[in-house]
Amino acid sequence: MSSTTPILNGLRGRCGACGQGRLFSAYLKLNEACPHCGRDMRAADTADGPAFFVGFGVLILTAPFLFLIPMSPLAPLMKAAAIVFLALVITGLSMWLLPVAKGILLNLQLHHRSGEAEFERKDG
Ligand SMILES: [Zn+2]
Repeated sequence: MSSTTPILNGLRGRCGACGQGRLFSAYLKLNEACPHCGRDMRAADTADGPAFFVGFGVLILTAPFLFLIPMSPLAPLMKAAAIVFLALVITGLSMWLLPVAKGILLNLQLHHRSGEAEFERKDG
């Protein structure tokens, strides 16, 4: 059974219309169309939205450790090891969340048929 909820399908990396086809042909590389239902994926462009949300989310979760580790009573070598470990966690978390955020934003854009803002001219 497949869900047609754009957000849930985006979490799974699946097409928001059918819930079956994969959104990505490779890491962050979108398919041009859904391999299952043929939905055109080129109509949406998430631009840097996923990176923005993932960057802020991961930063909010990990920033306290960037302050706590230097102030901790650990030996300097242990502090350096903790910072390196934290950098690996930040990188891994960001890499893991980027396709998820991109899938959600893409499915929401396609679902709501969003596009670039168009403003009417009032000169005539
Ligand atoms: Zn589909």
